[in-house]
Amino acid sequence: MPQSEITNEKAGSKQYIYSFSGGSSEGDASMKNLLGGKGANLAEMANIGLPVPPGFTISTEVCTYYYENQKNYPKNLFEQGIPDALRKIEETLGKKFGDPENPLLVSVRSGARASMPGMMDTILNLGLNAQTVDGLAKKSGNPRFAWDCYRRFVQMYGDVVLDLKPTDKKQIDPFEKILEAKKHELGIELDTEFTVEDLQSIVADYKTAILEKTGKTFPEDPHEQLIGAIGAVFNSWNNERAIVYRKLNHIPGYWGTACNVQAMVFGNMGLDCGTGVAFTRDAATGDNIFYGEFLMNAQGEDVVAGTRTPLKIEQLKAENPGIYDQLEEIRSILEHHYHDMMDIEFTIENNILFMLQCRVGKRTGMAAVKIAVDMFNEKLIDEKEALLRIEPEQLNQLLRPVFDMKEKQAAIQEGRLLATGLNAGPGAATGKIYFNAVDAYEAGKRGEAVILVRIETSPEDIKGMDASEGILTERGGMTSHAALVARQMGKVCVAGCGALSIDYQRGELRVQGNDIVLHEGDYISIDGSTGEVIAGKVATKNSEIIEVLVDKSLKPEDAPTWPIYQQLMEWADKYRKLNIRTNADQPDQAEIAITFGAEGIGLCRTEHMFFGGERIDAMREMILADDVDGRKIALEKLLPYQRDDFYGLFKAMGSRPVTIRLLDPPLHEFLPHTDDEIRALSIKIGRSFEEIKERIGDLHEFNPMLGLRGCRLGILHPEITVMQVRAIIEAACKLKKEGLEVVPEIMVPLVSTVKELEITSEVIHKTARSVIAEQGTGVKYLVGTMIEVPRAAITSDQIATAADFFSYGTNDLTQMGLGMSRDDSGQFLPIYQQHEIFARNPFESIDKDGVGRLMSISAKEGRAVKPELKLGICGEHGGDPSTVEFCHQLGLNYVSCSPYRVPIARLAAARAALKG
Ligand code: PEP
Ligand code: MG
Repeated sequence: MPQSEITNEKAGSKQYIYSFSGGSSEGDASMKNLLGGKGANLAEMANIGLPVPPGFTISTEVCTYYYENQKNYPKNLFEQGIPDALRKIEETLGKKFGDPENPLLVSVRSGARASMPGMMDTILNLGLNAQTVDGLAKKSGNPRFAWDCYRRFVQMYGDVVLDLKPTDKKQIDPFEKILEAKKHELGIELDTEFTVEDLQSIVADYKTAILEKTGKTFPEDPHEQLIGAIGAVFNSWNNERAIVYRKLNHIPGYWGTACNVQAMVFGNMGLDCGTGVAFTRDAATGDNIFYGEFLMNAQGEDVVAGTRTPLKIEQLKAENPGIYDQLEEIRSILEHHYHDMMDIEFTIENNILFMLQCRVGKRTGMAAVKIAVDMFNEKLIDEKEALLRIEPEQLNQLLRPVFDMKEKQAAIQEGRLLATGLNAGPGAATGKIYFNAVDAYEAGKRGEAVILVRIETSPEDIKGMDASEGILTERGGMTSHAALVARQMGKVCVAGCGALSIDYQRGELRVQGNDIVLHEGDYISIDGSTGEVIAGKVATKNSEIIEVLVDKSLKPEDAPTWPIYQQLMEWADKYRKLNIRTNADQPDQAEIAITFGAEGIGLCRTEHMFFGGERIDAMREMILADDVDGRKIALEKLLPYQRDDFYGLFKAMGSRPVTIRLLDPPLHEFLPHTDDEIRALSIKIGRSFEEIKERIGDLHEFNPMLGLRGCRLGILHPEITVMQVRAIIEAACKLKKEGLEVVPEIMVPLVSTVKELEITSEVIHKTARSVIAEQGTGVKYLVGTMIEVPRAAITSDQIATAADFFSYGTNDLTQMGLGMSRDDSGQFLPIYQQHEIFARNPFESIDKDGVGRLMSISAKEGRAVKPELKLGICGEHGGDPSTVEFCHQLGLNYVSCSPYRVPIARLAAARAALKG
């Protein structure tokens, strides 16, 4: 692992602990790699004078040390480092850890470089025991509060540190069981109804349960508690849900988490206490408004856990204007300090405000774009920074579907509007109801559109959420787990829909004041932009940007998101160096791609032009022909189709470059498979069933992907190349006569030696010359090759002598470079990713060390021979932002991707140029 990246040496010995406290901290916001996001920002907030309870951060290096050394810690950490750091807190607050009179209590929280909300463990109220609980009772003057804290602490410690929380959701948490039994015995419903004596007896029962289940007594020594809690935080870096989350978010396992130990402040000590979370702007829409939620007399986790629906931050203005004004001021300080939208957590203890966390706020793609453009207009950031603020994939959210308004109105008129919840994650989704994450995941795998419907979600649900189109919850606010995670995943989400009543046992969803009962598997539709929940299916339709660009059903001036999108794309085009082309085989695809900003076609797969109607029969007739004459007859049938297709494509692209790839049909994709298909074909092409069957047998390949495809086909049967080149040049000549000059780029596939390219080029040039002579019109054209065989990549100096351009066919280059079938690797790649053999699926994002290296050698050697050699990429990787960045670094001329990814590639290319 790149240790040098984060190592911090102080006076010759490594510093593992960094204290923070009002006005002076040992860390700052730049030290995220070492202190994690939470630790670095706590230090920064303390440095800029915000009210932060004192504490210290144990660095991520301790976590990596822990895992590299059989779960041992660096020397002296517990003997000296932590006691020293605790002492600083004690001195600042005048309290003492473990002191029965005036105890210091701490929270112990995880905090990785990248935020992983709710994925790892936290322990609050640590330091309480049979003695200190009395001290807390006396100091606070509130014994009930003290015992409530103690009860929560023993439960949390038992669940998290002593591992008593069941991993199987069907089992009941032993502490919940005791709590419920007590309520039943007392005939009460709420935790708040417990008396001090009740809480004392619950704590005693908890401790008995711990002894029974673990064989050990509950640790009364606060130092021992602290050691256990720190270990639990580090262990939670590798719990199952953290691993799943890391995989989904491409967070490497070697980063490790930091651990923050901080003095407790209490939001649950009385009515002048409270806790809340807020965003400095609206995280869903990007609007410049203070957006938050709070609960009075509650502890931090109550707000995010979604167990009580919190109040809107505006209500705090009425309830406690002093604190509200202070928060507004902090909002402004933070935005001007960080120049970004921040997400904060705060606690009010006896009318005093404390900041417990701040981090750059997660936001929807829509909000990211709006905030970046707004902050530019507010002079908080420049246009380069604005571009760097938006992850290219976030643009997807501007291109996402919405409900068809007519259908939605009709559904509402039919009385299918069930309820309205919070509009937690924008977009429209329709799908089948599943009530638990496992079933949702399975249904998603079967290809069903799924809406995960839960009372509330928890981090265990992450896989099911990922597999769903949308998430609907009965409880929880805009910052509940469901809302936060859904937004981050870009999922549609309606949260806190209190009118719903979900019964997991019966698999039913009922709605207050409505007779409708929905069951598992029934369709439901949710609008994450308005919060509406509708029974049954509602057709989704394209977003505003799609309506303006593709459907042309909306005028730009009527689309509020249009100016923001346009501004962003304008900036992207200003800074990017790469050209962006598209992979398209049809004029309509090409037209859409142009509206998205495509500057050419990087790949037209000509075999795709033969899939439909009668063409497939002529194509099959050609493949099955026994000799040249038979093939020529079939090719004659194909020629007019090809010519018309190329004409349409060139015309749609105007003067933009178009790369036409010669035929590359893996034969197994084109031959008829069943006897019925063979019989039907036999009638169409006038050959007997037996003849065709025998010929298919002759053509059978054990390894079609490495068989008679690509340039091999044209070398065996040059008449195929002749027909295609004739069609290309005739189409170009026709357009020239009509006044449009096009320069087709003729691309030879699957070349591995220069000789293959030379032989094919000779046929191309000969045919082109003769068509040009026939037509009496001169047209220019280029001849180039795909680089998709490793041998071609490493002999690019030779191949470049015969090519005007190279286009990296990274689908095959990955397949052949890794020796991994592009069609069959789905079986093992997920496991490979689990083992982090590959951080990303190598068919999605380029394997830089291997396939990327082949590209790099090829580009360098090709250009050494021919400096003007045009280089591009046309594998599926061309639309992946990290591959786009890599292509920029290699100095390619263009990337080519599917039409709907063109805006994403434009932004990725600009960001690559700015980062470069
Ligand atoms: C490639 O191999 O990357 C490529 C673009 O060609 P195809 O996917 O058609 O094999
Ligand atoms: Mg290929």
